Parts: sequence; C-alpha cells; structure tokens
Amino acid sequence: MIYLDNNATTAIDPQVLDAMLPYLREQYGNPSSAYSFGKKVARAIDQAREQVASLVHCDPAEIVFTSCGTESDNSAIQSALLIDRDRKHIVTSKVEHSAILKQAETLARRGYEISWLDVNEHGLLDLTALEQAIRPDTAIVSLMWANNETGVLFPIEEIAAICQRKQTIFHTDAVQAVGKVPIDLGSGAIQFLSLSGHKLHAPKGVGVLYVNRRARFNPFLIGGSQEEKRRGGTHNTASIVGLGKAAELAAQHLAEENTRVKNMRDRFEQEVMARISGIQINGDPDRRLPNTANLAIEGADSEALLMLLDQKGVCCSAGSACTAGALEPSHVLRAMGFSTERARASLRFSFGRFNTEQEVSSAIGILETAVEKVRGANRGVLVA
Ligand code: PLP
Repeated sequence: MIYLDNNATTAIDPQVLDAMLPYLREQYGNPSSAYSFGKKVARAIDQAREQVASLVHCDPAEIVFTSCGTESDNSAIQSALLIDRDRKHIVTSKVEHSAILKQAETLARRGYEISWLDVNEHGLLDLTALEQAIRPDTAIVSLMWANNETGVLFPIEEIAAICQRKQTIFHTDAVQAVGKVPIDLGSGAIQFLSLSGHKLHAPKGVGVLYVNRRARFNPFLIGGSQEEKRRGGTHNTASIVGLGKAAELAAQHLAEENTRVKNMRDRFEQEVMARISGIQINGDPDRRLPNTANLAIEGADSEALLMLLDQKGVCCSAGSACTAGALEPSHVLRAMGFSTERARASLRFSFGRFNTEQEVSSAIGILETAVEKVRGANRGVLVA
C-alpha cells in the first residue's frame, strides 16, 4: 500500500503507541481520583498538556482536551453564542470543514445569521470583505488555518488582528495546520484554536481546544469538573498521553515537514505534470501546506481514478464525495469558482512523515497508467 492520504488521517507513530501502552495496561487509574494511583495518571495528562502547549506556544493552562477536532470546533462556536445571547451573527467561509459548515447551517436554521465569505480562484479570502462582514452583533468569526482539501493557508495572524481591532471573538480550525506549519499563539490575538490528534500521528478520537486565558468560555460538555470545568467527562488518558508525545514529535519534525515532505510533494507534482497532459494545481501554489497536492486532471473522472489507484494500493482522496448515493462535487473547489466537471476530475494527494521517495516514484507511474485508462475509456464511451 502507498498511503498518500495523510490529510484524512495519519498512522500512529510507534513512539506515540509506546507512550500510550502503559495507560491502556497497568496505569488505568482515574486521573480525577484522590489517591496516588490516579494522581500519577493526572501527572501524565499534565505532561501532555505541556507538550501540546509547547508545540503551539501557549500556556499549558490554555489547553483543553476534547474528543476530536469536531468537538473542539463545536465547543468554540457554542461558547461564543452563549457568552452574549444578543449576538446572533457568525462570520465564516464557504470552504470550511463540515465541522464548521454544518454547524453554521444548523445555526442558520435556528435563526442565526451567517456571513459566508467567498474565496478567489486560488482559494484565498478577501480580507477587506472579512472586515466589512464583522458587525456589532457578530458573536464569532471562525476561519480555518489550512484547508483540508487544497492545503491553502489563510493569513491567520492578519485575520486575528482584524478581529482584535473589531473586538470580535476569533476561532481558527487549525486541524490541518498543527504539526505541518509553525504556530505561535504567543501574541494572544486568537481566542480559540482547534486541533485533532489523528492528523499528527496520534490516535483518532482525541483533540484539543486552545482557550485563550483571557477569553470567556462556556463548556460544551457539562458534567464533571475535569479540565478546570471547561470539559466534563473522564479523560481519554492513553490518547491524551499519545497526543502529547505526538505534539513533541511534531515539533521535532516541523523542519522536515517543510523540507523533505515538501520536496517530495513538489517532485510528485512536477513529474506528474511533465508526464501527464492537462493537469492543473488547485489552490495557491505558494500559500499552502507543504504536504498537500490537489490536482485537476482534465477529462478524468476522479471516482474511476480512485478505484484504479485503489486496485494498485494507492490511497488518496477525490474532489467529490458520495452523499446519499449521489456524487457531490467538492464545496471547496466549487467555492473557488471551478466547474462541477473540474471538481469531479480532481484528486488530493497528501504526503507525510512515513512516505518514501520510492513510494512517490511508484505512485507517479501508477497514476499515469490510471489516467491513460480512464481517458481511454472516456474516448471509448464518446465514440460509442
Ligand atoms: N477540521 C478540519 C479542517 C479537518 O480536516 C477535520 C478532519 O478531517 C476536522 C476539522 C475534524 O476533525 P476530527 O476528525 O478530529 O473530528
């Protein structure tokens, strides 16, 4: 298998698994218990908190462990809405992950007003339009750090400065950015940031919501007094310890992500474009994650390509998704102004720590053959 879908999820790093195992075996104490068997686990959680804080440059007390990126996203928005119930306006973009998109759509049905910011053909925002969209009754601005489909990076520091000037709460979904690009929350301009373990070689089902120490916060999960009363529920101790270790490793691998992984992605794109005609990159080629290649492959149906690639063991994602039996072109590519046809002819390849140059070379050859087959079949259909 050649796994080129690291934006969907990543393999658990063996060092992460090793760090977790004691908490799945002998260290099963409840970290909230008063005796030392529990307190030892609580200390491991605190260490994980420090490791995550160190990766994003914030105070460990600002880290709240959650069950996933989706929970973190939902918690940030729901908290902002509770802080001031008179504010019923939300600003977000048309290219967010469904964890924000669907939540905003649900809130719209409940009477909230949503300003959906457009992106241009490069996948970038118009910051003047953002500034104009913020109103006195805006409860929160939520914009992603890196797009999961194209890898396009929004200028989060500039956006945070605009929100600060406008005195609006700002949340960023940084699920795809953390561990891939440097993140420094030291300025304090961002109120909330979401991240997810399984995108950075920790297990699935653990995430973090960074809550700025000056931000007012209302818990989403109400129950026990875990996480300083910011998130009820017994800690997922092994996964939290794993996320801490993954954060430590991500900090060590950041430079690599920007050189080895980026070089791998760049070589993949260059060689694919040299060997296969009619390929275009979706998303700003410079302002994007170092690991993501989203390619429009003229005249090729991505679902057919995915099947052929899968037969040869290559895992990647299509620019369209099957919902209720129908092929839905990607909302991100559509928002960038691309035709349904281009969206349906797009594939995302996302590279990572465990990919090798050998795999990249093999994947290029496999893709070339698959595109030839799909295009040939199309011509056959047309002739018939
Ligand atoms: N936000 C973005 C940008 C994502 O890519 C994802 C996962 O694909 C999520 C949020 C959701 O994270 P999780 O799978 O941990 O709920």
